[in-house]
Amino acid sequence: MDSQSQSHGHLVMLPFMAHGHLIPFLALARRIRRHTPFVVTLATTPLNLRYLRSTMSPSDDDSGIRLYELPFCSSEHGLPPDTENTENLPLNQIMPFCHSSVSLAAPVERLISNITAEEGRPPLCVISDVVFGWSVDVARRLGTKSIAFTTGGAYGTMAYVSLWLHLPHRSTDAEEFSVPGFPKRCRFHRSQLHRYIREADTTDEWSKFFQTQLKLSLASDGWLCNSVEEIEPLGFDLLRKYLKLPVWAIGPLVPPQMLKKSSPISPNSTLKSLQKRTGKALGASLEKCLDFLNSHGPNSVLYISFGSQNTIRPSHMMQLAIGLELSGKPFIWVIRPPLGFDIKGEFRAEWLPPGFEDRMTGSKQGLLVRNWAPQLEILSHGSTGAFLSHCGWNSIVESLSQGVPIVGWPMGAEQAYNVKMMVEEMRVCMELTCGFESQIDAEVVKRTIELAMEEEGKGGEMRRRANAAMRQMREAVKEGSDDDKGSNVKAMDEFVRTILGESTRIHCHLPLESIITQKRSVKL
Ligand code: UDP
Repeated sequence: MDSQSQSHGHLVMLPFMAHGHLIPFLALARRIRRHTPFVVTLATTPLNLRYLRSTMSPSDDDSGIRLYELPFCSSEHGLPPDTENTENLPLNQIMPFCHSSVSLAAPVERLISNITAEEGRPPLCVISDVVFGWSVDVARRLGTKSIAFTTGGAYGTMAYVSLWLHLPHRSTDAEEFSVPGFPKRCRFHRSQLHRYIREADTTDEWSKFFQTQLKLSLASDGWLCNSVEEIEPLGFDLLRKYLKLPVWAIGPLVPPQMLKKSSPISPNSTLKSLQKRTGKALGASLEKCLDFLNSHGPNSVLYISFGSQNTIRPSHMMQLAIGLELSGKPFIWVIRPPLGFDIKGEFRAEWLPPGFEDRMTGSKQGLLVRNWAPQLEILSHGSTGAFLSHCGWNSIVESLSQGVPIVGWPMGAEQAYNVKMMVEEMRVCMELTCGFESQIDAEVVKRTIELAMEEEGKGGEMRRRANAAMRQMREAVKEGSDDDKGSNVKAMDEFVRTILGESTRIHCHLPLESIITQKRSVKL
């Protein structure tokens, strides 16, 4: 036990096992370390722990983050050996995998008991993924607070929770329907629902998992949300009214250098530290990506990526490629084998129009990056003008933090609700298509890309709004005196006050304000 945890306290963090969750959890752990003197223990299964370790460095932010291994054996849950992450998992195994995560309750209980025995008091709180509702009960029984962390935005989370808990589309035959907690004007459409929620009826495995875990999370002491109050005021208003709990907007959880006024990608040291963040082998070197971007003008390149684990249908891939070529617009495309093929396997030229890659490389119109690209560096480069994205929340936050507008192609989870919010409320996005089942043709791809890349008109308007969101995000993390602090900093203060509570005042022998402000000398 070190002196920090003895005097100030300890936080336990429990991410769901998917890259889109591990990345913001680690970013939140770092944010907490920068803001407070607390020790943070991030607990997850062995392979995910190895992944997290590969992305960390012995820097100041990471030094107070401990990693704790939660034993997990996938074959005991009927899953293939070494399945510890949703990455590369076929859809029919996602739900067995989700259900298997409940088995982490026993090792988490041991972890909290050990901390309590060693430090003479329980951790200040357990911060767990919203889909780990089981942890609320574990925390309660062991005398610690329970905080849910949604790695999504406020609006998307609100829609996701309300849709799963109420299944409102099941009580109507209409294509459009209202969702409890949303105003009448925000009607949802059946096509925005993934097949699994569209068909859910409370007795299926998807309903059983989500309804149980989300309901349990509603009993937490508060929710943390990776978003910014000012960019989605409606989402926060609705979520707070629905949950009747404190909701702290502690986003954007991107590396701090991305929120600085000057370009974050000039010094080499910064490049290395951003790259390490995902611990993934790049499909094209950073230098190659930057050379490509440097060879094009400001806001001229379309970046295309569908997140950490998605791919598209073979026919979609073909139409997207033809449409891109027809548009003539420069692009960087993170490409994986299409649906129905081994996503980790060799990429076959036949999935693209004949000669496509050679023509794109030769004319410098396009760069195809296999499997994984340095997304943050691409988004923060001045040549990137729009992002064709599946609209996972991390990708949205990363894009908007750089003022890059979005072309949406949502695929699952809460992505379609994120698109709805960005189209109707923020107006930083246009939708290309939705889901895996839709039809798209190359002409639509071409026209949409042309619109999005316009300097004026619709594209220009989206870019202006994305720039306004970028400024709001930068303001949100501003340190300063009470009146001057950004909303993210205020939210972190409130969160810390809540987890410290009265009993900790007695343990710490320190006024709360002094604990909160101790770390203020370290700037974001
Ligand atoms: N990512 C990346 N390079 C890639 C693909 C994804 O760095 O080629 C990162 C991206 O920056 C983001 C995360 O992986 O932080 C994807 O999270 P998101 O919430 O957007 O989507 P998910 O993978 O959860 O569907």
